[in-house]
Amino acid sequence: MFDGEVLKDYLIGEGISKVGFTKVNLSEFPSLDYGVALVLKLPRQAIQLLLDDEFKRYWKIFHNQIDILTDIALKAESLIKDNGYDAFALTMQRNECDMEKLLSKLPYKTLATTSGLGWVGRSALFVCEEYGSAVALSGILTDMPLDVGQPITDSYCDDCEECQKACPVDAINPKKWNSRLNRSDIIDIEACSEYVIDQFKSGLGCSKCLSNCRLTQEYFKNKR
Ligand code: SF4
Ligand code: SF4
Repeated sequence: MFDGEVLKDYLIGEGISKVGFTKVNLSEFPSLDYGVALVLKLPRQAIQLLLDDEFKRYWKIFHNQIDILTDIALKAESLIKDNGYDAFALTMQRNECDMEKLLSKLPYKTLATTSGLGWVGRSALFVCEEYGSAVALSGILTDMPLDVGQPITDSYCDDCEECQKACPVDAINPKKWNSRLNRSDIIDIEACSEYVIDQFKSGLGCSKCLSNCRLTQEYFKNKR
């Protein structure tokens, strides 16, 4: 029988690092009321490139991971449909990111935290115990009934402030995330993007908050 466990095994077999299930409520897709959160770890080499300020090479690897995620999400969409359910792979292209506000239709972080896969760090990046923020995220919507995970609604950053200390423009607020807060409560996204664009022109740079995250570093140093 094709169910959530079979789907999860398929996704892990394809190379996804963590898979979670949650309920969703998107007006554009009223019948697709389940979400599948996909977390793909970044290779350790990518973190080394960030530490070396080799941004072009880092972003090449990151975008390659996004291509892998897109490919797997689309294949899983077909698999779900072949088994009699409806599905929509929420690939980055389909998630209609508002590049001015840096907001998407359904933030992948919301899918991943409500599925119980991790939380949002002080950095406003998704964080999980295994890989810190060294991950790429995606998702799938479906009407296939799934056993949903326990949502994470509060930060597990505890007293850590490593990302905040690493930010060159003090864009990260001391306030820890919880699901009732807005992004602007924890990060000054304008200060961040102004710095990144000013320093690196292409808008693809910095990421000190990602590479210096305590949990990213633990993954990088092979402690996990
Ligand atoms: S990307 Fe850089 S500027 Fe933006 S929040 Fe992270 S460390 Fe700060
Ligand atoms: S560096 Fe520390 S405070 Fe920042 S996201 Fe990582 S665990 Fe949380």
